[in-house]
Amino acid sequence: MMESLKTNGACSCGENTYEAEVDPDKVVMCNCSDCQTSSGGTCHVNVLVPESDFHVTSGTLKEYIKIAESGARRIIGFCGTCGTQIFAVGAEAPRVYGVRVPTLAQREQFPPKVQIWGRSRPKWLPPLDDIPVKEQQ
Ligand SMILES: [Zn+2]
Ligand SMILES: [Zn+2]
Repeated sequence: MMESLKTNGACSCGENTYEAEVDPDKVVMCNCSDCQTSSGGTCHVNVLVPESDFHVTSGTLKEYIKIAESGARRIIGFCGTCGTQIFAVGAEAPRVYGVRVPTLAQREQFPPKVQIWGRSRPKWLPPLDDIPVKEQQ
């Protein structure tokens, strides 16, 4: 098991900053259609961080509640000025933050270990042969 690393991150405009203890084994690339729409791209790349290891250090994130098809409520934390998403977290305890890896200063150290919702993956996107794909979650 790898040790968690201290990281820091920020939104695009710099108003919101955070620190997190990050386990490099817990990085997930999600290709679900919600992640495509909300990122404006092909996926979100998240690292799963327990609530106790995630700390906002400046700014106040806006929150948007997304209700999944399953009915589960997820809170999306984002910068109200520049719109950058910093995390998504389930509304119910225990809370595990899906921190958006591209907002980390150390993003290059955290490549995805698995791809989920492969069945929603854009057909034009070349496969990433080194990263296993699960059809669903
Ligand atoms: Zn911002
Ligand atoms: Zn997703």
